[in-house]
Amino acid sequence: MSDLHEDTAALLAEAKTPTRRPTVAALEEKLFRPVHVLDHGFVRVIDYMGDDAAIVQAARVSYGKGTKSQRNDRGLIRYLMRHRHTTPMEMCEIKLHVKLPIFVARQWIRHRTANVNEYSARYSILDREFYIPEPGQLAEQSNSNRQGREQPLSSEQAQAVRDILRRDAMTCYDTYTNMINDDGTGEKIDPNAPQVARELARINLGAGYYTQWYWKTDLHNLFHFLSLRAHSHAQYEIQVYAEAIAEMTKLWVPMAFEAFEDYRMGAAHFSTDEVKILRAALDGVSLREFLKGSDLSAREVNEFRKKLGKI
Ligand SMILES: Cc1cc2nc3c(=O)[nH]c(=O)nc-3n(C[C@H](O)[C@H](O)[C@H](O)COP(=O)(O)OP(=O)(O)OC[C@H]3O[C@@H](n4cnc5c(N)ncnc54)[C@H](O)[C@@H]3O)c2cc1C
Repeated sequence: MSDLHEDTAALLAEAKTPTRRPTVAALEEKLFRPVHVLDHGFVRVIDYMGDDAAIVQAARVSYGKGTKSQRNDRGLIRYLMRHRHTTPMEMCEIKLHVKLPIFVARQWIRHRTANVNEYSARYSILDREFYIPEPGQLAEQSNSNRQGREQPLSSEQAQAVRDILRRDAMTCYDTYTNMINDDGTGEKIDPNAPQVARELARINLGAGYYTQWYWKTDLHNLFHFLSLRAHSHAQYEIQVYAEAIAEMTKLWVPMAFEAFEDYRMGAAHFSTDEVKILRAALDGVSLREFLKGSDLSAREVNEFRKKLGKI
């Protein structure tokens, strides 16, 4: 599984194609160039459509003449984001090429509002490439968050885990290639053994092996993806991909990204009771006092405090 037709990629990266379509100079610079993620993964932009102006233009269709200056464009985009008027964001699209471990792909694919085309391990032979976490990423199961890691392993423990992961992955890959029994040209390596179908031989490989896909989505759904996967609650291994994509998005649609950071990523959503607490606080009622007459659970109170950065 080559890192995508490198010659073609190099040619495309150098190509200068005149176009009347709007382009974004900062993203053009990044087109086709992989941003490395984890030990063997990457993300790169293959294509995109639209820019901040496309969002504004679409919004103007719904609001009539509307605003003209760039300052007003920013204001309009911020208004759209604040009020969840999201369809103008759908006018922008981006197509990414991603190389990622299979267990990350399993989380990613849950985002249904995208178009995906994945490398076929029925057709092609997978490379001997699997994810081994950095020692600093190896940690014990968290007690407070059942979906997370907590106390880091000691360096000896981390090394032992890395050794186990590598050994098992290599063993599985050896049996995979033995079953495939192909010298790379279609000829058998062992003339007395069968060439097991690739679609069957692959079932022995673990979720740490790398796969690749093209992933295309619009800006509205990309923001939804980023809000969930660039968030600290997401697993580290998908978070780092989301963060790489967030950096690209910032270059592509800087005004929309700024609004996204202000009104989504950095914002908090409050329940009815939480709003009551905040209102009471404005009148000088402490949280402790408020909770005397409330049936909020301890967990809800903790989550509320966390939203306000009080834990
Ligand atoms: C921290 C974290 C932990 C998670 N843990 C688990 C877990 O333990 N188990 C698990 O199974 N999943 C888990 N998930 C996955 C999660 O439940 C979602 O499937 C995933 O985040 C995709 O979100 P989405 O459905 O909003 O995205 P998309 O599929 O992109 O959909 C975007 C939006 O479109 C709408 N939509 C799309 N399809 C439909 C539909 N068929 N019907 C109605 N509305 C639709 C919804 O409004 C949805 O929010 C976890 C996700 C996160 C971020």
